[in-house]
Amino acid sequence: MQSAFPVLVRIIILGPPSSGKGTLASVLAKEHGVPHISTGDILRGEVDRRTELGQKAASHMSKGKLVPDDLVIRKIESRLSQEDCARGFILDGYPRTVGQAVALDKIAAPDVVLHIDVTEEEIIRRATGRRVCKTCGAIFHVEFSPPKTADVCDICGSKLAIREDDTEPTVRKRLGVYREMTAPLIERYGDMLVSIDGNGTPDETLERARSALRDVGRNA
Ligand code: ADP
Repeated sequence: MQSAFPVLVRIIILGPPSSGKGTLASVLAKEHGVPHISTGDILRGEVDRRTELGQKAASHMSKGKLVPDDLVIRKIESRLSQEDCARGFILDGYPRTVGQAVALDKIAAPDVVLHIDVTEEEIIRRATGRRVCKTCGAIFHVEFSPPKTADVCDICGSKLAIREDDTEPTVRKRLGVYREMTAPLIERYGDMLVSIDGNGTPDETLERARSALRDVGRNA
C-alpha cells in the first residue's frame, strides 16, 4: 500500500532499545512503499558474515556500546545512496548520536522524527524476556509471545537463544548510552519530532504512529 502522504517518506524512528522501533518501522515501510533500514540489523549481518566492519563492530555491540560514528556513518551513507531509497526510507536505530544526525542532514534530512516513549521498567521487561531463533530469525518473548515448548522455535525446531546484548546488565548499559548519546536528539529535532506513547501493545503503538503521521501530513 502506498502512503496517503507521499511527502512524508523520510521517517526516522527514535527510541530507547526494545521500544518497538523495528516492529513499527517494518509495518510503516510497507505502508509507505519505502525500505526499512535498521542499522542494528545491518551491523548484525556484518558480524555474522565476519566482514571487516563486523569484526570492528562486534566488541562494541556485545558490550552494549555504540559502534563508532565513522564506521556507521560510512555504512549508512552507502545504503542510502542505493536506488531503492530515492523515494525515501524509514530509518530504525539511526541516527543515534548528534554526529550521525549532522551527517544525515547533509545527505538526506528527515521529514519527520517519530519518537517512541517507553519507560525504563518496561524496556527491561521486554528485552530480558526476548528469545531469538538464530536459524530462522523468529522472535519470541517468554511473557508476551511464548513458544509452544520452552526454548524451542515453533517454526524450525531449533533451540532458542538470548541475544548477546539482551542480558539485564547489558540492557541497563544500553539504556545509559541511550540517555547520554541519543536522547539529546529529541531536543535537537525540535518541531520535526513527534512523540508517541510506546508502553502499550505493538498494535496500539502502530495506531498512535499512524495517527501522528496523518496529523503531520495534514499540517505539512
Ligand atoms: P536496540 O534498538 O534494541 O538497541 P538495535 O538492533 O537497533 O537494537 O542495535 C543493536 C546494537 O547495534 C546497538 O546496541 C549498537 O551497539 C549497534 N548500533 C545500532 N545502530 C547503531 C548506530 N546508529 N550507531 C552506533 N551503533 C549502532
